[in-house]
Amino acid sequence: MLNVGDIMLRARELGVGVPAFNIPYLPMMQPVTKAVKDADAFSLIEVARLEWMKFESKSLAAVAEEFARWADRAHVRLHLDHVPVIDEDHERVDYMPVFREAVSLGYESLMVDGSRLSLDENIRVTAEVANFGHAHGRPVEAELGAVLGHESGPMPPYEELFASGKGFTDVEEARRFAAESGCDWLSVAIGNIHGAIAAGARDQKKVEAQLNLEQLGALSDATGRPLVLHGGSGIRQEYVLGSFKRGITKVNVGTEIRQAYEHGLRASGDVEKAQEACYARTYELLTDWFRIGGLRDQVAG
Ligand SMILES: [Zn+2]
Repeated sequence: MLNVGDIMLRARELGVGVPAFNIPYLPMMQPVTKAVKDADAFSLIEVARLEWMKFESKSLAAVAEEFARWADRAHVRLHLDHVPVIDEDHERVDYMPVFREAVSLGYESLMVDGSRLSLDENIRVTAEVANFGHAHGRPVEAELGAVLGHESGPMPPYEELFASGKGFTDVEEARRFAAESGCDWLSVAIGNIHGAIAAGARDQKKVEAQLNLEQLGALSDATGRPLVLHGGSGIRQEYVLGSFKRGITKVNVGTEIRQAYEHGLRASGDVEKAQEACYARTYELLTDWFRIGGLRDQVAG
């Protein structure tokens, strides 16, 4: 069986996207992993620190246990999403114990998010985590640029943000970052935004985001490694499909499947019905939106 690092390199070569589905509620694990298998696709399953702290996925261990219960590793692998060095509430995080625990629980790849640090600090912290990850055979994802949306407080109007390119990943900084940090995958900001997580806003429909594909191509050439698109929900499809041909390999999907689950639960009061809604949305994303149904063998075979 290929390791996840090799799978990602192969997907990059092929220009095929690998979605990474976030699990903020443990009962989402079963329908999401089943949808990937039924679509004969390959995907990652992931959890971010804020999902066990602010949503209901409980802990790294609880997610790993649920994954072991339902997942077929021919189709899905477990990734640790966002462990921020400075979190969304601007608190410093003691990140190394989280990575050690994740490795011991069988997470196959890790993300360190130093995007709220200066460039030099981000490089230093990412190199520390990359060295640790590589010593344990784990690819490490990092983030450069500001993928907005997790911050508390109001967002600037999206059109203004996109036109200004404010917070977008800089090509020369990315070249230096990739070379010096040793990260394997790099999350970039090219117009993508995270879904809102604040209690009053998490139910809102996301704005329809655009991507600067020209800048993406330059970032891919400069870094030479798989790039990651965070905030993959709510981006126009032509941009998403175009991004797979220009260097995006991993695309994180949180809001779409979370809201399918939450709306299903609210409408019926029944976890099974919510799981059905989550399954249907995940399957549809794989086949109609990302168009990777049937591609498992090519990517991970
Ligand atoms: Zn993210």
